[in-house]
Amino acid sequence: MNVHDSEQICALLEGEEYEMTKDAQTADLIIINTCSIREKAAQKAYSQLGRYRALKQKNDSLIIGVGGCLAQELGHTFYKKFPHVDFIFGTHNINKLPEILKKIELYGERVTETDFRESVKSIGIFALPDNGSLSAFVTIMQGCNNFCSYCVVPYLRGREESRPLQDIIDEIHFLVDHGVKEVTLLGQNVNSYGHTISEDTNFPSLLRKIGKINGIERIRFTTSHPKDLSEDLIRCYGEIAQLCEHIHLPVQSGADRILKKMNRKYTAKDYLNKVDRLRAQCPAISITSDVIVGFPGETQEDFKSTLALMDYVMFDNLFSFKYSERKGTKALKCDSKVPEPVKLERLKLLQAKQEEHTFRRNKVLKGRIEEILVEGISKNCQNDLTGRTRSNKIANFKGTTELIGKMVPVVIKEPYLHSLRAELITEGEVQAC
Ligand code: SAH
Ligand code: SF4
Repeated sequence: MNVHDSEQICALLEGEEYEMTKDAQTADLIIINTCSIREKAAQKAYSQLGRYRALKQKNDSLIIGVGGCLAQELGHTFYKKFPHVDFIFGTHNINKLPEILKKIELYGERVTETDFRESVKSIGIFALPDNGSLSAFVTIMQGCNNFCSYCVVPYLRGREESRPLQDIIDEIHFLVDHGVKEVTLLGQNVNSYGHTISEDTNFPSLLRKIGKINGIERIRFTTSHPKDLSEDLIRCYGEIAQLCEHIHLPVQSGADRILKKMNRKYTAKDYLNKVDRLRAQCPAISITSDVIVGFPGETQEDFKSTLALMDYVMFDNLFSFKYSERKGTKALKCDSKVPEPVKLERLKLLQAKQEEHTFRRNKVLKGRIEEILVEGISKNCQNDLTGRTRSNKIANFKGTTELIGKMVPVVIKEPYLHSLRAELITEGEVQAC
């Protein structure tokens, strides 16, 4: 989501005749788009800001701004620690950037904008993806109402609000007109889309509408909450041709006790039932997830339940995190904190198990024909093209550059842990298979 916010910032400033540079040394304006979901992300932003202090000392006309969750959280207190920062803008204020920059230019004073706006309707910044990519993000909602006890999102990004359906459709038409073939619908909990609009506006109906747009070849979405994964959404797999066979469905823990303390509103059994239903509807679906280890009170038994859930599901991939204390969240008040070394040990065990599972899931694909959206030349080998399967796995194969931007069939020759080695096949070969 932050990546897409950065794309929106760039689109907005390019419209104001700024030009993007990746070289901070020569920049006139540096914007740091922060995340504070975990302490590690916040620390990264601080150390980057520290590095830019020297640049400001060398170049007094350099303007430095900070946006995103950390800016939302700290507001003007940021200036105390980082006096070289010129402006702060919160999670609802990206659209105010041109105004902020004009104020700085005119009055030479710091500007702080962290108010939540009344409505999401004004998101309206149509940003094309970086480097002419064929794959674009589209925000369909913002904020979150779930208040998982460990999470800062509802406090820093505000309450859940769905974007009007026609706005989303218009943006996708704009993207298709600029060559985009794949869209990823973004939101903290996309499958509750529409609840804030009307009773008959919901996520499956949005997907069906997008499926009717000419030129869209692939639809993805992230993130969905297990409690809101409806039977109707499950039915969309297979029914909407462009909907890719992948779902990111964060489970967080396999222990009911911990899920309850996390305020996730489902049990491990509920989660597994949904996984079974997804696989019955769409056997090829790849399932990825998020897990937090070391939530306060997590015992060895609880952790074992998470490992057992992993063994059952065999996720295609997993993002795993050590629990990180966040200011203002309910979990901060929980007793029985798990010591850091225990968290680390659990994280390592879990990641080792996941590597095994990812490799096993990839191995199943050996010999299979997969459709790849060719994204470009591989970073690791100039002679290889790279792209993703519909199940969101990276595949590399030999081919000529005119295939970039096309959908091509390949056969999977060698599955690895992080990618698949594939071979291009011709139309005739596809039919013979
Ligand atoms: N809205 C999404 C994801 C939000 S943040 C969802 O509910 O699934 C992405 C992931 O960060 C979460 O799924 C969770 O696993 C992790 N996370 C959030 N807060 C955290 C915290 N305080 N400590 C550790 N991990 C956290
Ligand atoms: Fe945070 Fe939970 Fe909302 Fe996800 S669903 S953003 S984890 S509060």
